[in-house]
Amino acid sequence: GKSLAGEKGKASERSFVMIKPDGVSRQLVGKIITRFEERGYKLVAVKSLTPSPALAKEHYIDLASRPFYKGLVDYITSGTPVVAMVWEGKDVIRQGRRIVGATNPQESDPGSVRGQYAVSVGRNLIHASDSFDSASKEIELWFAESELAEYKPTTWDWVMADN
Ligand code: UDP
Ligand code: MG
Repeated sequence: GKSLAGEKGKASERSFVMIKPDGVSRQLVGKIITRFEERGYKLVAVKSLTPSPALAKEHYIDLASRPFYKGLVDYITSGTPVVAMVWEGKDVIRQGRRIVGATNPQESDPGSVRGQYAVSVGRNLIHASDSFDSASKEIELWFAESELAEYKPTTWDWVMADN
């Protein structure tokens, strides 16, 4: 069927973004959401939950052989919730990665979320899909299609126009 990540390179492109338990515990949810909102991206889904081990393991399945995998799954499933979101808009997958910053906060641009608020790779606050294929898989893993809203922000035409 059609990808839940919309159309690559178009205003319908979507990314999966998750504020991890440290971001929730440190009360950075509003500040993080504001960065995506103010850039002009559209919030099409948001929910707070403590992921099951099965969900966390599947989300990070590509890292299953890495030494930090178990600690990563324990961190994500700690009991402090995550905030799972889908953001939509032109180039949101690539721009989302730039907003989030490099995986290791010690290498992240200081203007990025991780570069402003984090110092440890194991507590780097936030996830964002790294490609169109990852976005498709992750949105499908975390959300039902019926949870994805269809609406047009009042800012949309001004922000997304490219001619
Ligand atoms: N991670 C870690 N130690 C490492 C590398 C990664 O704890 O040496 C964690 C970190 O939380 C990271 C997540 O594993 O965000 C997923 O790793 P990935 O390489 O996909 O980085 P990301 O896409 O989150 O930047
Ligand atoms: Mg990744």
